[in-house]
Amino acid sequence: MKLRWEPYTLDLKTTFRVAHGASDQRNNVLVYLDEGVGEAPAVPYYGETQEGIIEYLESVPDLGEDPFDIETVLARRPPGSLAARAAIDVALHDLWGKQIGQPLYRLLGLNPANLPLTSFTIGMDRPAVMAEQARECGFPIIKIKLGSEFDEQIVAAIREVTDAKLRVDANAGWTRDQALELIPRLVSYDLEFVEQPLAVDDVEGYFWLKEKLLASGVSSPIFADETAKTSRDVVKLAGAVDGVVVKLMKSGGIREALRMIHTARAFDMQIMLSCMVESSVGVTAAAHMAPLCDYADLDGPLLISNDPYSGLRYDGAKMSLPDGPGLGLVKRSPH
Ligand code: MG
Repeated sequence: MKLRWEPYTLDLKTTFRVAHGASDQRNNVLVYLDEGVGEAPAVPYYGETQEGIIEYLESVPDLGEDPFDIETVLARRPPGSLAARAAIDVALHDLWGKQIGQPLYRLLGLNPANLPLTSFTIGMDRPAVMAEQARECGFPIIKIKLGSEFDEQIVAAIREVTDAKLRVDANAGWTRDQALELIPRLVSYDLEFVEQPLAVDDVEGYFWLKEKLLASGVSSPIFADETAKTSRDVVKLAGAVDGVVVKLMKSGGIREALRMIHTARAFDMQIMLSCMVESSVGVTAAAHMAPLCDYADLDGPLLISNDPYSGLRYDGAKMSLPDGPGLGLVKRSPH
């Protein structure tokens, strides 16, 4: 199987701000394995750069000739860039589906009618600007990026203009004490859950926070994102959080993302499937697993203006999977 790649710059419709930076563009890499395609998102926050991803891909040895021997092929990937490892895994699954002539969801034994609705993400800005975006987007589920000094004002301003379900994501932006002080105030605005309130490596803090919140009668579900990268992290967090956020780029691909989902289920944890700023390639790949998940945050393609492929379709928050073989992607003609 021939591995090749193509650097690709995604243009964002609006500047995207989270607790750890802002961007107008993302320099991802499209990865091909014969006629299979995957995407490696270069997320600076995770230490991934376009150059680093390409350097990794140059170091990958021959992956063999059998796309059906998935575990063996994936084991040939050297350690290193998780984004690139995920892209190879996704391209392999796409190739597998194309050779069998079936969509990936069918090969995974999943019903494409059972997709959760997706949220729409509002990046960090002044409270009034975020409230205006929340009103304008018209989505029934809104994910709010927090981690600024105005967090309560932001949630209050957005709640004032919409009845949508609200989820908040602090992106590891709070200390333990800030989280304990803010969460009870924020849940009074009726939140679905709070994502990644604490620092990435503060697993102990999640147990501490859970106990403190329960003691004060606050029962807002807490989800771990950055702290839950693989199935091993799910085990460490069992009992401390109510749910985990699964992303292909953290897990290194579909194979490990499935293990993460099943591990979380074994501990009665909920699952949100999410994405980075990535095109229809990475997001459609994730969406093929969405029937296994409770929540979806798969708005990547809605945030960019130059998607190289079409795949997952949106009717507002309702998503539908393409039914072509593999990921079901179709290349868009360049403008
Ligand atoms: Mg998150």
